[in-house]
Amino acid sequence: MTKVTPENRYRNNAKAIEIGNAFWNLSEKHGLAGIVADLDGGELRRADGHRFVNFSCCSYLDLDQHPRVIDGAIAALRRFGVLDHCIPRARVQLPALLELEASLGELFEVQVVSAISASVASAGLLPLLGSGHLSGGRRPLMIFDKNCHVSMSQAKPACADETEVLTCRHHDLDFIEDMCRRHPTVCYVCDGSDSLGGYAPVADLSRLQERYGLYVYYDDSHSLSISGRRGAGHVRSTMAGLDERTIIVATLNKAFGASGAAIMFGGQSHETLRIVERFAGALSYSQPMNTAAVGASMASAEIHRTGELSTLQARLRQKIALFDSLVPTPQAGAGFPIRLVSVPDTQVVELGRALFAAGYYVSPVFFPIVARGTAGLRVMMRVGQGDETIRGLCGMIAGFATRAGDAA
Ligand SMILES: *Cc1c(COP(=O)(O)O)cnc(C)c1O
Repeated sequence: MTKVTPENRYRNNAKAIEIGNAFWNLSEKHGLAGIVADLDGGELRRADGHRFVNFSCCSYLDLDQHPRVIDGAIAALRRFGVLDHCIPRARVQLPALLELEASLGELFEVQVVSAISASVASAGLLPLLGSGHLSGGRRPLMIFDKNCHVSMSQAKPACADETEVLTCRHHDLDFIEDMCRRHPTVCYVCDGSDSLGGYAPVADLSRLQERYGLYVYYDDSHSLSISGRRGAGHVRSTMAGLDERTIIVATLNKAFGASGAAIMFGGQSHETLRIVERFAGALSYSQPMNTAAVGASMASAEIHRTGELSTLQARLRQKIALFDSLVPTPQAGAGFPIRLVSVPDTQVVELGRALFAAGYYVSPVFFPIVARGTAGLRVMMRVGQGDETIRGLCGMIAGFATRAGDAA
């Protein structure tokens, strides 16, 4: 019998589970994970009656509960008469996806292809990039940013089977430029906006694109809807136009408030779009966005076309500013809605529990999920959080910080 020897060049489940599961078990043991609750008037309510406000939800504009988005989902299901009429869209499709793609394409001034999720989009598109089918037939050297979201980094083994794959330090422009000088075709993969703040250096990357023909694949899931005109997100609104060397994927499940994902292309030929439809992995062989998701997304897109979107964006900025005025964090002043309140590893679960008991759910992060000494509470702001609720949460956090300071 020969022994199985894993390579673990790009992934290692045993290590990930060993590290991550201790975190999850401890969180669940203290009632901060595995929670079941119903939505009730914007709050959450557990079966035993405990009510709490969610400070760890990514629906930053609360569009997920917007009456027009809910009505849109129901109306589309009734109009099309089916959730999904199962057959590959390359053969036969309802007009639903085409209508949505036309609407989002007009909204963001790009070509849009939909997907059931951003993760499915990346899992399908990145290997196609690797094989050169989205870069004029030339296989690019693929550089993944060290911090890129797991939905992209997990495509590394598949990409490495098609081309050469490297991982670079976070936004290492010098390294990327150096690779561009040495390789005829290079593709860089990164987040457009990070979950803990920080934005991709889009203007610098655009210069490399012009100079060396660099391809860039962005996942801008975190900034769609909350930033840019009509909520086009950080990357799209920083670039004057999109050409065939840039691809942006963004989930429709965060601030956009629906379900599914938009892949934004610029200047791709009909032929290339057909390749995507037929060969981008699960995009071709698995279910697409269903009609309810399409209807919700169409309704959200309509809201994005009106002044209501800028009102919501402004209200979110006001909620973030209120939080920043009460609790200092390294992210203070930044436009994105996530804050990491630093709390010692030994106390973060205790504080999380106290906050939850008082009616605020804030997810704790601590070693080993993050490096020792960088534990804390990951607070996410939403437009639907009342100012008094925010003040209540911040008061408890500030009181805790004062007591911890006194004890030290
Ligand atoms: C949340 C998130 C995703 C997941 O999006 P799905 O559409 O649910 O797959 C992917 N990428 C980034 C950067 C995210 O923040």
